[in-house]
Amino acid sequence: MDKSKIKEQVKTEFTAYLTLHKHRKTPERFAILEHIYSTKGHFDMDSLFKSMNNNSFRISRATLYNTIELLLDCGLVVKHQFGANVSQYERAYGNENHDHLICISCGEVKEHKNGNLFTPTQQKKLQRFKISYYSMYIYGICGKCLKSKAKQDVKSNTKNNNITDKKK
Ligand SMILES: [Zn+2]
Ligand SMILES: [Zn+2]
Repeated sequence: MDKSKIKEQVKTEFTAYLTLHKHRKTPERFAILEHIYSTKGHFDMDSLFKSMNNNSFRISRATLYNTIELLLDCGLVVKHQFGANVSQYERAYGNENHDHLICISCGEVKEHKNGNLFTPTQQKKLQRFKISYYSMYIYGICGKCLKSKAKQDVKSNTKNNNITDKKK
C-alpha cells in the first residue's frame, strides 16, 4: 500500500474513533497523527515533542500526551518498552513486521525486517486467531559495543598480565 493511501486510511479510522468516543476532532490531533505517519522508525515523547514543534504547528505537551493515549487506544500507534529505556512508540499501520534488536550495553534499538514468522500451515494451527502483526524483542550486544569491549579486553590483558580476567 502506498504512503498517501495509508495516511488516508488512518485518518478515516481516527475520525471514526473520535466520533464513537465523543472526543473532539481538533486540527492538533490530526497534525500529530499525520506527523507520526510521516516519520519512520521509533520515537519517544521528547523527540516527538521537539520534532513537532520544529514545524509551524505549536502543540503543548499535554495535547501530545493526550493524543498519544488516544492513538494507542485505537491501535494506530504501538508502545514499546525496550529494557530500561524510556517508552518508545511507532506507527502501527503499514509498518512491516519487524524484530527489535536491543543492545543491553548501550541501549541502541535496531529494526530488523523479518519475513513471515508463521507459514500458512503454522498459521492454521493458531485456531481462531488472526494475526495482525507481531514484533519480537531480541536482546544482545551491538556491533559497536562488541568492538569496544574487545579493545578494552586487549588493553586490560596487556596491562594486567598477571591478573586473571574475572569477567570470563
Ligand atoms: Zn551497544
Ligand atoms: Zn519497531
